[in-house]
Amino acid sequence: MMYDHILVRYAELALKGKNRKEFERKLHENIKRALKEFPNVKVQRSFGRIFVELHGTDEEAVSERLQEVFGIYSFSPSLKIELDQEKINNAALWAVKDALPDETGTFKVSVKRVNKGYPHRSQQLNYEIGSHVLRNTKNITVNVHNPDVEVRVEIREEAAYILCKTIKGSGGLPVGTAGKVMLMLSGGIDSPVAGYLALKRGVRLEAIHFHSPPFTNERARQKVEDLARVLTRYGGSMKLHIVPFTEAQKAIHQHVPDKYEMTVMRRFMLRIAEQVAVKNQALAIVNGESLGQVASQTLDSMYTINEVTNFPILRPLITTDKLDVIEIARKIGTYDLSILPYEDCCTIFLPPETKTKPKRDKTNLYEQDLDIDFYVKDAVERVETIHISAEKKLDEEIQDLF
Ligand code: ATP
Ligand code: MG
Repeated sequence: MMYDHILVRYAELALKGKNRKEFERKLHENIKRALKEFPNVKVQRSFGRIFVELHGTDEEAVSERLQEVFGIYSFSPSLKIELDQEKINNAALWAVKDALPDETGTFKVSVKRVNKGYPHRSQQLNYEIGSHVLRNTKNITVNVHNPDVEVRVEIREEAAYILCKTIKGSGGLPVGTAGKVMLMLSGGIDSPVAGYLALKRGVRLEAIHFHSPPFTNERARQKVEDLARVLTRYGGSMKLHIVPFTEAQKAIHQHVPDKYEMTVMRRFMLRIAEQVAVKNQALAIVNGESLGQVASQTLDSMYTINEVTNFPILRPLITTDKLDVIEIARKIGTYDLSILPYEDCCTIFLPPETKTKPKRDKTNLYEQDLDIDFYVKDAVERVETIHISAEKKLDEEIQDLF
């Protein structure tokens, strides 16, 4: 025997009417997309639930992938058994043994009889199934208050469903149920994590990266593409906008006093990011800033840098400690890429000292020597947009085999 399907649960709090329908539709679509790599798997929506039919596919591999889909609260590998008491008993026995492979531990049976035409009451069925398990195992006993395993049996019209493992999902909302945001993606540790957390709230993601050739090289750019590709595991295919930032950076370096260079550079990045966001119908910018992490992220810096835009800026990591960010980066698979040592445009030309309390009036004064509109417009016009799709990587890998 093996589990033949997985029952998916989603948190439906505050979801009513039209919202709930849309949520379910998106979630169904996203699960289908995520499980495309398993050719035999089918994802069904019926009776207000989502089922993944395994058709012989390894349950654990599918479970791992499901944990990467936002909007899933929890899920359970399950057995669909015809309405025959002996078959139900045996399936419950198998499920207990599967969950307690040493055949030691405690269990309880919880029957839910939705199908009132089915003979016997729930209480009676609990007893019947429980004693079958007890008769056919060695060191397994019943514990109704705090069992190691709870075997849940749901008797419905069309079949009985048996499950005893519940695996926690990622939570959040299905990607595509909120608007679109523009992620400022550097090659660092923080910004991919910020993108992941934004996706968790259901937004669609596009990314923008500032690149300064020849000071930053092809490998730095490749690294950002690879990071974006990891994010597609959670958010599906995405656009990556590469901004040629060399001209603006050179001009800033030439005209702005050392200590204000970082501040002005960040203001240029924001101005450009806002325009690229508007052009692509994104409703907010997301970045990886964390309060106090570095000179450009003190409250004074944010106050001065943020002056150039009215656009909403989401900072999912604002109160997160670096170690916690690293933990998430490891979990989502971006950490090893992020620590590859390539130059980022933020680190070139950088003076040894940066102001931790830059002032708005001084910054505005220093910017007067720069033709801001020209550099912003020029950079936006020369943006190169590439499509990052998870599938493309697979195609490439397959081609490599031949
Ligand atoms: P990370 O870049 O991931 O934050 P970091 O801490 O080295 O690592 P910071 O210098 O702190 O980077 O930059 C703060 C934020 O500004 C980043 O999280 C990112 O959102 C944005 N950013 C920095 N450099 C770039 C870049 N070259 N392209 C796009 N966004 C950038
Ligand atoms: Mg950072």
